[in-house]
Amino acid sequence: MKRIAVLGATGSIGTSTLDVIARHPDRFRASVLGAHRNVAALAGLCVAHRPELAVIADPALEGELARRLGAAGVRCAVASGHAALTAAVSGALCDTVVAAIVGAAGLDSTLAAARAGKRLLLANKESIVLAGPLLLEALRAGGGELIPVDSEHNAIFQCLPGGRPDLRASGVRKLILTASGGPFRGRTRAELATVTPDQACRHPKWSMGRKISVDSATLMNKGLEVIEAHHLFGAPADAIEVLVHPQSLVHSLVEYADGSVLAQLGNPDMRTAIAHALAWPERVAAGVAPLDLAASGTLQFEAPDLATFRCLALAFQALLAGGDAPAILNAANEVAVEAFLAGALPFLAIAEVVEAVLAELPPQAAVDVESLVARDGQARATARRLLRRAC
Ligand code: NAD
Ligand code: MG
Repeated sequence: MKRIAVLGATGSIGTSTLDVIARHPDRFRASVLGAHRNVAALAGLCVAHRPELAVIADPALEGELARRLGAAGVRCAVASGHAALTAAVSGALCDTVVAAIVGAAGLDSTLAAARAGKRLLLANKESIVLAGPLLLEALRAGGGELIPVDSEHNAIFQCLPGGRPDLRASGVRKLILTASGGPFRGRTRAELATVTPDQACRHPKWSMGRKISVDSATLMNKGLEVIEAHHLFGAPADAIEVLVHPQSLVHSLVEYADGSVLAQLGNPDMRTAIAHALAWPERVAAGVAPLDLAASGTLQFEAPDLATFRCLALAFQALLAGGDAPAILNAANEVAVEAFLAGALPFLAIAEVVEAVLAELPPQAAVDVESLVARDGQARATARRLLRRAC
């Protein structure tokens, strides 16, 4: 029986994870559930999944969570605050941690799970973009393993021999990340000038949280995933390619020296990657409909439009710049996306803010978590200053 902590339980990945867990009560148990502020949703999940501990990140809501659980007759421990999240993933209540908090807010708990030697199912891509080498070092020190949940990286993991081997020794020439192209594929810059948050969040293939939906619309999501792939699989930037594939059935590919290209396919439903990561190296049902290729029609592939969707080019630039440039990129993007979602920044200005922050803060060596967190804060402050000027 695997005992699983689901952080970000109320989100899109969190609820998909709980759906898979509930299909296999003989194998999996959700022992810890964590969320930010949505106390009603967290209490509802506790009623359905009966964890041993529920953690709400906002301390002001702990009393309300306890009251709701008491009223519903759920007997589970209640805690609050980020330190409680970190303690929960490090402690004896779980052997597996699903890191599905959105943004850099997930860094502490992701690192803590790695240090504690848990099986880390990583959806929170921002934490590996922000602190890739430190996260890998924490994993080595903890002796646990990381299984990627992000669908592209999960696909690559499945197409590599033995999970995460030495790429050169295994004859891997290239990792090819597919991208749906998002809701604005094919649009010109002029057409993108006035798009709204709701339009940006209306993804044609995937149902996701609002931040990652905007990242998909700008292609920053793919940029973050390029950096994620670099760290997860040890691939240099020039061995990572992005290929737009609007049908989102081919989740990524690995090209080998002999010309073979292996791909992982499936319907666009995160429960496949989540079930794979939960059960690995075994396979279990995920509740996903079988892929019907005969009914799927033509599969298209095209190169990304880097001139229109500049965030992807900026992410490659940050990866090549090295040091803490990816952390700066990520922080500036989080601030800009938040402003766009609040209606305070035009869509095209997201890339402008990220580019300006990268230009103002030349990369420094990423030596430890404290200095990275400080640089993340500096990049956020710089982005906010630029936003005030832009508005
Ligand atoms: P979401 O917005 O639907 O959910 C986010 C979750 O994080 C919520 O449960 C929320 O309570 C929690 N959270 C937010 N801020 C927090 C904080 N400060 N402290 C504690 N908890 C906090 O997001 P999502 O779409 O589920 O994405 C989660 C992560 O998974 C992101 O990093 C995203 O990039 C990644 N991811 C998502 C998908 C997808 O299909 N949704 C696919 C691949 C990767
Ligand atoms: Mg992805």
